[in-house]
Amino acid sequence: MAKDVNALPTRKGERAWSEKDVETVRGSLSEDLQELTEDIAAAEEQAVAIAAGMGDTSDDQAEAGSYMVEREYQLGIIENSKEQLLQVQDAIGRLTRGEYGICDNCKQPIGKARLLAYPRATQCVECKKAEEAQA
Ligand SMILES: [Zn+2]
Repeated sequence: MAKDVNALPTRKGERAWSEKDVETVRGSLSEDLQELTEDIAAAEEQAVAIAAGMGDTSDDQAEAGSYMVEREYQLGIIENSKEQLLQVQDAIGRLTRGEYGICDNCKQPIGKARLLAYPRATQCVECKKAEEAQA
């Protein structure tokens, strides 16, 4: 049975999640999902086109080199977008299961304000800062 949206966690002093808040987060996540899917498809198409172009450059080292650089760049975009896509899919999954909004690290509420600003967040501000300080 699906949990009531108001059961999503909040931090001290925050109002409970309204239906509209949940819709905002869900909408933002599905927009991201679509954008990332399109980005990946476009970058993959580019990478394929570049790979096809590389086949014709066997007697031109400089041109082959620039194809390589361009291809690396596209592959970087694909990798990055796929990682983000996983985060978005994970967030949607958690939202659907009613497990959304709990910090992966300290198991405390991430907070509604943070999630509305950054729906993919998996950690509370404190844990995120601690992680970044370590990195
Ligand atoms: Zn935390």
